[in-house]
Amino acid sequence: MDKSSHVLTLPSEPREFGFYMDGDWVAAGEREMFERASPGHGVPVTRTPRCTEDDLNAAVASARTAFDDRRWSGLSAADRSAVLLKAAELIRERIEEIAYWETLENGKPIAQARAEVSGCVGMFEYAAGLGRALHGETYNNSGDNALGVVTREPIGVVGVITPWNFPFLILCERVPYILAAGCTIVAKPSEVTSVTTLLLAEILSQAGLPDGVMNVVTGSGRTVGQKLLEHMDIDMLSFTGSTSVGRSVVEASGRTNFKKLGLELGGKNPQIVFADADLEDAADGVAFGIAFNTGQCCVSGSRLLVERSVVEEFSRMVADKLSKAKIGDPLDETTQIGAITTDAQNSTIMSYISKGQEDGAHLVCGGKQLDLGQGQYIEPTIFTCDSMDSAIAREEIFGPVLTVIPFDTMDQAIAVANDTEYGLAASVWTKNIDKALTVSRQVKAGRFWVNTTLAGGPELPIGGFKQSGWGREAGMHGVEEYTQIKSVHIEIGKRTPWVE
Ligand code: NAP
Repeated sequence: MDKSSHVLTLPSEPREFGFYMDGDWVAAGEREMFERASPGHGVPVTRTPRCTEDDLNAAVASARTAFDDRRWSGLSAADRSAVLLKAAELIRERIEEIAYWETLENGKPIAQARAEVSGCVGMFEYAAGLGRALHGETYNNSGDNALGVVTREPIGVVGVITPWNFPFLILCERVPYILAAGCTIVAKPSEVTSVTTLLLAEILSQAGLPDGVMNVVTGSGRTVGQKLLEHMDIDMLSFTGSTSVGRSVVEASGRTNFKKLGLELGGKNPQIVFADADLEDAADGVAFGIAFNTGQCCVSGSRLLVERSVVEEFSRMVADKLSKAKIGDPLDETTQIGAITTDAQNSTIMSYISKGQEDGAHLVCGGKQLDLGQGQYIEPTIFTCDSMDSAIAREEIFGPVLTVIPFDTMDQAIAVANDTEYGLAASVWTKNIDKALTVSRQVKAGRFWVNTTLAGGPELPIGGFKQSGWGREAGMHGVEEYTQIKSVHIEIGKRTPWVE
């Protein structure tokens, strides 16, 4: 590893956390603990409790009481907004600390973690305004004796289950919007990356959020996560994770209380590059799109469809870009590509690389694990394939593995882009406006980028078509998702009698 640049130091011993309920920390006490080793360094960095079913029930009861007594939903939107704005200020003050723990648990580069946490400040600021803009409708057109009012009410207690790839960012794409709607929350982060979710709960209390409105339970998905999604007192569940666990979320909702679901699931996202694109820009964007967060990104541009006349040249350009990106210690300020977050994900990625080779795909670059002395790292890898038949062209790998497929016509590119069960995100790279607009209309994806990738902001909703999910997070849609609609019929004056 390059030690010439500034490198933050590891903690001398793992930091122990409790969980967060009813406006305060609950000490781990006698509970079993989960010890997390930094994926970039292999040394233990945090210890978090494995919450029990009783802990979960207590957290849900706390959120239920806080919702039912209207201590949050009964406030004016202006008062709720003040809390969210204060939280934004406190997050800004603690960017370094949050980014440090995010990097230690996740393995992402510290500079990237900082940028993500800074982006979350904007989520809170924007959602603060949205809460005040939320409104209903009136129908003043039903005659002199009637008025119709349509109101939006907060849906109630919301469970939030988040994955390990962007623990703080994904959380902040949901929590401020849920709070702006007036709901209360029980969050369950991935067990391997729990700490920044706990820190957000503490920050929200310091910002003046009433006790019980934000609760965090820690523990594994199979235990505490499963109990959360089955819980009868959870009114809505926002689940972000794999499509396979998403199926069990749907099944659990049907088997219990038909809780409303928001599902943000997997993707196999096409990047379509036409020969008339600015190939230099496109190569840079494609390299970023597959290597950002080591490709452990639901919207990573993992399928590269390139017009046949430039496919070889363009693949080489992307490989060249990737060879110059700095892989290494996530605590090094200059690192661009960090570690693979879990051992299981490391094995999954390496097994897809083997499958690609067995299926006869041509390896353009990468394909190996990197021995940096400590931690787990995989070289950005490019394969070219002739068709969509291979597993590496069809299945979500969730790693830095790019599969290149050539195309001859725009219609063919659109057909290949849509030849997937997923519909999360897509990009087109071209300087021809007609092609850009036609492809953006016809590719089935919840997020679409023209001459860029992985761009976004608090204004733009996030979500998938097809098996990539249901509903939208962020933006005004992300607040409205957490409301339900009530129609109020008001009679004016004397009723026309039914019985004379
Ligand atoms: P995952 O295994 O589905 O886990 C996601 C979350 O669900 C974690 O908190 C996990 O807890 C929990 N969980 C696992 N099994 C559960 C169960 N039976 N009941 C309740 N909760 C359960 O997914 P992952 O491997 O962490 O994340 C990668 C996947 O997420 C990829 O498919 C990616 O595309 C998708 N993703 C989608 C988006 C999006 O916005 N569309 C964003 C990010 C990621 P533990 O980890 O503690 O077991």
